[in-house]
Amino acid sequence: MKKLHLITLVVLLLSFNSFAQDSKSIYATMSLSDALELKKDLPDEVEILEKRRNEAAVFFTDHAGHYLHDKVLVHGPGYIFKNSEEDAIAALYKEAKEIPANKMAFTITEDALVNPALDLINTQNIEDHILELESYGTRYHAYPIAIDVANDLKDKWEAMAVQYGRSDVSVRLFNHVNTNMPSVIMTIEGAETPDEFVVVGGHLDSTSSNNNNAPGADDDASGIATMTESVRALFELGFVPNRTIEIMAYAAEEIGLVGSAEIAEEYADNDVDVISVVQFDMTNYNGSAIDVSFITDYTNGTLNSFLMELIDHYNADGIHEITYGTSLCNYGCSDHASWTSEGYMASFPFEANFGQHNGNIHSPGDTFSVSGTANHAAKFSKLCTEYLIESAKSSLLSVDDALVNSVSVITQNGQLIYNLEAAAIDFTSVILYDIQGKKVLETPITSKNGSVSTQSFTKGIYIATFIVDTNTSVSKKLIIK
Ligand SMILES: [Zn+2]
Repeated sequence: MKKLHLITLVVLLLSFNSFAQDSKSIYATMSLSDALELKKDLPDEVEILEKRRNEAAVFFTDHAGHYLHDKVLVHGPGYIFKNSEEDAIAALYKEAKEIPANKMAFTITEDALVNPALDLINTQNIEDHILELESYGTRYHAYPIAIDVANDLKDKWEAMAVQYGRSDVSVRLFNHVNTNMPSVIMTIEGAETPDEFVVVGGHLDSTSSNNNNAPGADDDASGIATMTESVRALFELGFVPNRTIEIMAYAAEEIGLVGSAEIAEEYADNDVDVISVVQFDMTNYNGSAIDVSFITDYTNGTLNSFLMELIDHYNADGIHEITYGTSLCNYGCSDHASWTSEGYMASFPFEANFGQHNGNIHSPGDTFSVSGTANHAAKFSKLCTEYLIESAKSSLLSVDDALVNSVSVITQNGQLIYNLEAAAIDFTSVILYDIQGKKVLETPITSKNGSVSTQSFTKGIYIATFIVDTNTSVSKKLIIK
């Protein structure tokens, strides 16, 4: 048995001499300067596996992760979790994909939809949703309650789609490898180019020095509530996107962007054509002289400029005024970094200049009462709405029911589609006038539910008049996009 004792001794010696890992040690990437500092401060808890350019692949203890988080000026974890040593090193050698020029062609054309949508943003809804998420007490990813939180959000989003009669909307859970908490994804299927995606996201989990008490009102219930209210406004407007829109509530952001990293990786592996991604993580603390601070590191400059142009165009003054500036947020700051590292265009409009943001986050003090209203978050909800409409675009029209509410009409791809079933009277024909009052279409109709085709539709505002007889008609205003 002497041999066995010797082996035991060798094992013991090795474990004393080697890196003092604990059961929660993880692989990750982080900025090289942070890795070097961490190694200097905690030499026994950090192993630098490989360095490349300004990044490092690292293996470190749970304690070192918290130490980094507290030490560096970063909103999120400050590192990106990786499954294995191999994955961490491979991430350093991943070359960013070239973004095709046509994907960068952002335009601002949808004033007729955006302006009414901005009026629909309801600050009270945002407040209610933040309080609802805060009331779980904690949304820490490793606790069973985090699964309930995800299921409840799925139910809430599904109910919203039902409420507004949206059969083009689905909500799914995205299950992960490295956390039991699922992410939640709402999909609004694009009417014309469903394979092109426009994404907004925020994280559903929370953390705190005491994970049993992690209300996470600003970080990041505010982001989830901000996006939810934007989508509700789109539904109320009747907006149908050309491109597919996805709203993502990520799991386990706080432990190394775990949820978003797995989603972004899967999308990249499947060559999903995501045009761009905007992150909403902390939107309700008004800590700076400006409203929105665009984070300019680990984000896409073209997309950042587009979002600034949207604000210049839609929010220069008046009741929807928004001001903005820029700042830096460092490595692994929030989920946008997961998309950036997969070669997608991502932006991160943040609640304040970095460093002036809510100081209560990651503590039991991150409650809604710190802000007291959702006025600040409402500005982000407006920006989110503008981004979704202008990036996804729409060919369908919004219908003005001011003239008659018993007739519904939609137009798509040169077709006037009508449903007059709610009207008690029979119609004989339909006439379409353009905004100058010029007749562009006149055609008999024989049923209360059908469509007429025409080549003459161009973008603009029209009046559709359904004729009953020479004395009776009903008209509807149409915006043909
Ligand atoms: Zn956050």
